[in-house]
Amino acid sequence: MDKMISFIGGGNMATAIIGGLLSSGLSDCDHIYATAAHEATVLRLKESFGIDAGTDNKIAAQKADILFLAVKPNLFHKVIPEIRHAITDDTIIVSIAAGQPMERIEDMFERSIKLVRVMPNTPALVGASMSAICCNDGITKDELAEIQAIFNSFGESEVISEYLMDAVVGVSGSSPAYVYMFIEAMADAAVADGMPRTQAYKFAAQSVLGSAKMVLETGKHPGELKDAVCSPGGTTIEAVAQLEKSGFRSAVIEAQRACVQKSRDMS
Ligand code: NAD
Repeated sequence: MDKMISFIGGGNMATAIIGGLLSSGLSDCDHIYATAAHEATVLRLKESFGIDAGTDNKIAAQKADILFLAVKPNLFHKVIPEIRHAITDDTIIVSIAAGQPMERIEDMFERSIKLVRVMPNTPALVGASMSAICCNDGITKDELAEIQAIFNSFGESEVISEYLMDAVVGVSGSSPAYVYMFIEAMADAAVADGMPRTQAYKFAAQSVLGSAKMVLETGKHPGELKDAVCSPGGTTIEAVAQLEKSGFRSAVIEAQRACVQKSRDMS
């Protein structure tokens, strides 16, 4: 891709995306520019990626064919007025902010823009993100494919309708936290049974990773995969019965729905 890609906000998410762009060869350091609030971050971006960076958002916007808004959502009202007149009608704006609907972003720009809204998740930092993508009518099919390729460079993505963005927050945006709790709980149990903690985290995390790969790669129903582990009269069905007694599935469903409701309330 020979387009110029700028990032306003060079934090965790921007770092993950830039890393994906460079390691996949989709872009190179001459075609990426980023801004940050502090000189120390600017220096870190320059040193880690060999890209150009600065603190002036207007410069980032003027340079960009594709412009990522990668600051915290509460900074949009400050940043957008700075760049409103620096973009062209062809600039593709990509917002990764949680809880900022496209209509609100369009209103803040006070002009018609080409806009893509994406919700990635933090496993982006290890190249294993899950991103949901939607866009406004200004974006062509080819442009959408181009943006999707960027997000696929550090994980997987799906194009969705915007009304599903709150559900995405629950199932992939926030869900790494619940999965970490599950891993922690399994490791605690293993520690209680005498396993050293570091080893316990490895056994628990690798089991979650492997099980996720089984779901994704076999295409089998998760219930079928669960049944295959449960020998009649065996150890696993004892654990499954105990989890059902404790309302495990219901706890996850209720927690995730609370998360989605909170996302709706915040939007
Ligand atoms: P972060 O705090 O790591 O990065 C934000 C960056 O913005 C920092 O480098 C800061 O220097 C810079 N910044 C602050 N004010 C600025 C300004 N006026 N001009 C230019 N840069 C400025 O945040 P993050 O976790 O990378 O999140 C960035 C966006 O990604 C947020 O909108 C967040 O909602 C979204 N997001 C984050 C996650 C996540 O799990 N971290 C997941 C999905 C989406």
